[in-house]
Amino acid sequence: MLPWRAGEPGSRDPYLVLVSEAMLQQTQVSRVEERFPAFTRRFPTVEALAEADVDDVLAEWSGMGYYRRARNLHAAARMIAREKDGVFPRSAVGLRELPGIGRYTAGAIASIAFDLPEPIVDGNVARVLQRVHGRDAASDDRAAQAWLWERAGAIAGAGESAGAVNEAMMELGATVCVPPPASPRCDACPLRGVCVARQAGTQMSIPRPKSRPGKKALYCAAAVLTREDHAILVEQRPMGGMWGGLWQAPTIESSEAPPTAPRVAAALGLSASMLRPEASFEHQTTHRRVLFQVWRAAGGLPPAYSPPRGIWMRTEQVERLALSNAQRRILLESEVGGTLFG
Ligand code: SF4
Repeated sequence: MLPWRAGEPGSRDPYLVLVSEAMLQQTQVSRVEERFPAFTRRFPTVEALAEADVDDVLAEWSGMGYYRRARNLHAAARMIAREKDGVFPRSAVGLRELPGIGRYTAGAIASIAFDLPEPIVDGNVARVLQRVHGRDAASDDRAAQAWLWERAGAIAGAGESAGAVNEAMMELGATVCVPPPASPRCDACPLRGVCVARQAGTQMSIPRPKSRPGKKALYCAAAVLTREDHAILVEQRPMGGMWGGLWQAPTIESSEAPPTAPRVAAALGLSASMLRPEASFEHQTTHRRVLFQVWRAAGGLPPAYSPPRGIWMRTEQVERLALSNAQRRILLESEVGGTLFG
């Protein structure tokens, strides 16, 4: 059983529902299965999370990406602990006042923890409902979204346990009414007798694919600078925006073109002739293609070098920092003085 599914739907710990839903928003179930136990051991209650330093929360989230989820989770825990005496709001409307909690997560907590008749619409539920009703639209279509929430609301309000109904719908979409390229297992589906798409043979084309705008490129020049004592220069990103609050090798960014050696050198108080390109790779986020170029100081740094940005840390300290996957690769998978990425 998935670790956050312990107990009957409708009577689960709202804190554990909140943590699991935050993790599941952008991360595969198998990965959440690995990380959820460690996170909830370290922060077992909403009070424990509220008391924690945000850097520790980000470090525990390290490697799962989309760090705004961790910051919002921490902020929501603080609001519950400090402004609501540690008690979760017992309505979807009240839950949505918490940072980072939208309609879906509010519905999940309200129905799965408190058994309130609130709907949940995620990709799995949307696919099942659209196929059962033969509704041929992209699931992010505005009219389709309104219809889906209305239908899911009617279903959640009709049964004895909204939590059980919502979980069953999500489970059905995840295991039986699966998305392409896999085929739905209609013969094993409890809804096969009423499913319009099955009767029409249109299961595979419903819902229509979402229209996806092309991803914008972001060019990042990351400088791996190490001292003779093997300390590494690192800096913390500002709290807002992509990878907010995470640590990195000093990184110069541009949306227009890859930062040149003179630009990277100027940002670091070095001369361009001292830098050599070491490696390059592409990293995909939901909205961007991030193209990394990694630079090193050829022949080491001058003895009196004083960096204009960042701080020096030993490798053991860097290992404990909250790092994005890309920066972990840049900082920790490279041998000091050796070849990056094998
Ligand atoms: S019958 Fe097939 S298409 Fe219809 S809901 Fe079940 S699995 Fe999905």
